Amino acid sequence: MSTATPATRLVLATRNAHKVIELRAILAETGPAVELVGADAFPHVPDVKETGVTFADNALLKARALAEATGLPAVADDSGICVDVLGGAPGIFSARWAGRHGDDAANLDLLLAQLADIDDPHRGAHFACAAALALPDGTTRVTEGRLTGTLRHAPTGGGGFGYDPILQPEGDTRTLAELTADEKNAISHRGRAFRALAPLVAELLG
Ligand code: IMP
Repeated sequence: MSTATPATRLVLATRNAHKVIELRAILAETGPAVELVGADAFPHVPDVKETGVTFADNALLKARALAEATGLPAVADDSGICVDVLGGAPGIFSARWAGRHGDDAANLDLLLAQLADIDDPHRGAHFACAAALALPDGTTRVTEGRLTGTLRHAPTGGGGFGYDPILQPEGDTRTLAELTADEKNAISHRGRAFRALAPLVAELLG
């Protein structure tokens, strides 16, 4: 049973239980003594509009709003895929690229169609993630992580989510959707951003 006091609880701005488990594992590696809870534990807290123009802006918006609403330290992330030949798009619009928020299949189909005439040497892309920590006193920290690769012409693999079936990480012959969850976490933009944030969480809260 946890002996954490309310002061060492940390709330993560997601209702996705998988992300809570993933971050708990990353924080455990670095050792800050915090009890991580998902935003689900605070059903009265409304979702924040992502009005920022960078991943860091949006991650900070979400973390700050949650810290303010709960009175607890909060962490949030924002992520997306950035395609070289599209000048970094979809970027912050990744979740709503085809128009409807969270329609992963439509987003992936649209991106593939847009790149249909682009040959392999020009299909570079990266996933980007910003992870933000906000304390109720207004202190904030942001870290970023990247995963670089190239885009396939057709989806491959049944794992992961979103654009995973078309992103082949640099140095691998598989797509992200063909990696195990542990393999993906070890190299992913989100894993990298949160592993960079973990020592800052430890420093401020541990
Ligand atoms: P959010 O950070 O949860 O808002 O995610 C933004 C969008 O970026 C998602 O809906 C996905 O389309 C895409 N995305 C972010 N991270 C990943 C990933 O690890 N794999 C595949 N797609 C991702």
